[in-house]
Amino acid sequence: MASRILILGGSTEGFALADTLAQMDGFEPVTSFAGRTRSRRPVAGASRIGGFGGADGLRDYLVRENFSALIDATHPFAQKISQNAQKAALAAKIPLLRIERPPWRAGKGDDWRPVADMQAAAKAIPQLQGRVFLTIGRTRLAPFAARDDIHFIARVIDAPEDIKKFSHLELVFARGPFDIAAERAFFAEHQIACLVSKNSGGAAAAAKLQIARERAIPVIMIERPKPPGGKSCTAVDEAINWLREQNI
Ligand code: NAP
Repeated sequence: MASRILILGGSTEGFALADTLAQMDGFEPVTSFAGRTRSRRPVAGASRIGGFGGADGLRDYLVRENFSALIDATHPFAQKISQNAQKAALAAKIPLLRIERPPWRAGKGDDWRPVADMQAAAKAIPQLQGRVFLTIGRTRLAPFAARDDIHFIARVIDAPEDIKKFSHLELVFARGPFDIAAERAFFAEHQIACLVSKNSGGAAAAAKLQIARERAIPVIMIERPKPPGGKSCTAVDEAINWLREQNI
């Protein structure tokens, strides 16, 4: 009988892992999504949507649905679900692996200004001519509303709530991956003078960093929260090797 693997998804790696496992003999992947976006790309294998009801709810789900392993492939900035995964896997006595993609690193010609969180990012934006490009998703825009001296452009997948307090905010609806040529044209067209980004890592959203370097504009880079700890890897092929080693 195939081993059921629960993938906590919402990241490129989560989709790629489900794709690979669905094509292999011996594994049956189920991907779990929080349900934050109104539509999402299709995933290979089975899927479910919505919270579990905390760590206890996740533990119950793992046991009830007879999973053999849990893979936390959530985004590096999704903290709560990763903490819950640790507790639930321990309580359910099933192996847990986290896929944590490497962060981006600043290189020659970059003007990155690292900050700890959104509040610090809002304060760190210099006074400038041109627009500030927010690429931080739609749920944590509120701290930037305090900067009524700045004209913001926020790139989001779905419409944010609670943006009434912004003096100058334009929304652009788009879903990655974003290529170099399109980003170059976007920065030029909108006269982007500063970029605000989370240090998400990965290839899908990296083009904006190259364009910021080309245009010699500052990047307010929000550093990652502390990782949850436990066994982790950086890529999908390592996760497959780990699963093979589990004798499940
Ligand atoms: P979070 O703060 O860590 O989680 C909040 C709650 O949402 C969790 O306690 C859990 O509810 C539920 N949840 C989160 N991920 C889930 C999943 N994959 N399956 C089922 N329930 C989930 O998460 P977040 O930062 O809001 O992110 C939500 C999702 O969006 C994550 O899956 C993440 O991979 C994806 N994402 C996040 C970011 C980001 O910057 N945070 C960026 C891109 C994608 P219960 O306690 O009820 O189980």
